[in-house]
Amino acid sequence: MRSEARFIVDAMLGNITTWLRILGYDSIYWSGGDRELIEKALKEGRIIITKDRGLASTALRRGVEVILVNGSDVPEIIAEVSKRYGIDVYFNPRKTRCPKCNTPLKLVRQDEYRWLCPGCGKHYWVGGHWRNISAVLGEVRRLAEEAWNR
Ligand SMILES: [Zn+2]
Repeated sequence: MRSEARFIVDAMLGNITTWLRILGYDSIYWSGGDRELIEKALKEGRIIITKDRGLASTALRRGVEVILVNGSDVPEIIAEVSKRYGIDVYFNPRKTRCPKCNTPLKLVRQDEYRWLCPGCGKHYWVGGHWRNISAVLGEVRRLAEEAWNR
């Protein structure tokens, strides 16, 4: 189990960053060059998530861990990350991070789940978008279980 896995996601898969943050994993989005991306991954011990085969093989040669994905289906990609690195695919209200800036959120109200981001000052609560979040995470768990049982 590598619960402390950290990620760097290439620009083509930017929305994956948001989902990893919601699940509580330190994840950054990279839109710069490949060389800088690999350097940053090495320096900060981050796992690269990319669709780019060329980038993946260069990174592997440099000793960086890489998840090379095919499609852009969010649940499939998160399930793959979970299968490879054992990330938790259940939402943890005490561990979640700001989808915008990656800072761990502070739970300010336990009874109705309200959070404050100490990084950017944004407030979060369980609103209408919550149903969508639950649906996506439900699909992630279904795929992850399938993968584990294979
Ligand atoms: Zn924030």
